[in-house]
Amino acid sequence: MILILRADTEKNSEEYRVLMAHLSNLKNIRTRVHDEVGTRQTLTEIYLVGDTATLQIEDMEALPCVERVVRVSEEYRVLGRHHDDKRPTSFDYNGVRFGQDNLNIFAGLCAVDTPQHVEIMMRALHERALPCTRMGAYKPRTNPYSFQGHGKSCLPWVFELAGKYAIKVIAMEVTHDSHVREIHEALEVTGYPTGVMLQIGTRNTQNFELLKVIGREPEFPVLLKRGFGITLEESLNAAEYLASEGNRRVVFGLRGMKTNMGDPHRNFVDFSHVPVVKRLTRMPVCIDPSHSVGTRDVTPNGILDVFHVTAQGVIAGANMILVDFHPDPARALVDGPQALRMDELDYFLEDVAIARDAYEKRVALARTHREQPAADA
Ligand code: PEP
Ligand code: MN
Repeated sequence: MILILRADTEKNSEEYRVLMAHLSNLKNIRTRVHDEVGTRQTLTEIYLVGDTATLQIEDMEALPCVERVVRVSEEYRVLGRHHDDKRPTSFDYNGVRFGQDNLNIFAGLCAVDTPQHVEIMMRALHERALPCTRMGAYKPRTNPYSFQGHGKSCLPWVFELAGKYAIKVIAMEVTHDSHVREIHEALEVTGYPTGVMLQIGTRNTQNFELLKVIGREPEFPVLLKRGFGITLEESLNAAEYLASEGNRRVVFGLRGMKTNMGDPHRNFVDFSHVPVVKRLTRMPVCIDPSHSVGTRDVTPNGILDVFHVTAQGVIAGANMILVDFHPDPARALVDGPQALRMDELDYFLEDVAIARDAYEKRVALARTHREQPAADA
């Protein structure tokens, strides 16, 4: 059960003290307090965990400071959507809004290589007023002899270039808590020219210790990729790990499943789960067409498979696209074969806009359909 307190409830008020004293007397129930600090107000939620079945909603709503009560019956306590749940489905980070109702495009390099390539990418995004990108500094590779990413050494110049081109958010994978510290340090040294969304890759979806550390991270939002060989439920529980530790600014990423049933794609594309994740949880949903498809294969109508699956995800309501681009794919140190070229950026954006427009029309159509009385009523 979640008690949502009135905005700006003071922790040192008498009312709050009375509320907490009452809750501490409830048998077999533990409380966990979470503050959602927004730009305009702070919202406090109290999670009651344990034997809550006997508690009545009306009784809890009558307690001091309490504005609303949500009974949590399903899984994913914090990030899930529950009955009568009006908690937000969006968050803001560094001036960019991430919500279940909008769309952000993170085009960028799979792996940071040269300053020239990073600059070409960021300048192109800036020219198109796109404030987000992807840039991998720490690359988890299947083969120990493959390029592992430049690591912390590239962070200062990547962040400075981001600042130069007004990039507000860089999605960057981390595989260890030391990487989070290094990102903090580099941002501090360079004077916070940009922001970072920590990416947890598919190989680490169930690295519970990493999830706990990043869950306690107060500053950075997280893109959690779905595990490529586990159920959706298991991956959503991984997201809940982050939230249960305090970090609820989580975007859930679909990136395909590892099975030869998806051949000839690198992974079996799972974008039909976009609306499912939005129904089950309050997280914005990201699609990664590049790592799903893994090639630049093209269909007889001239459209790349990567474009097709992107459109499929967007028309189903995706809120973020993580997509590999490279100024010189043949020279990319990681995942060149799936990268789109810079001269395809405008075409890609236009194709995405068509799919997004179609999605919005579908939402409007569904609304009018719901408003119409049933024909036989
Ligand atoms: C990536 O986005 O660079 C990546 C490695 O993705 P995934 O974890 O989905 O394989
Ligand atoms: Mn990659």
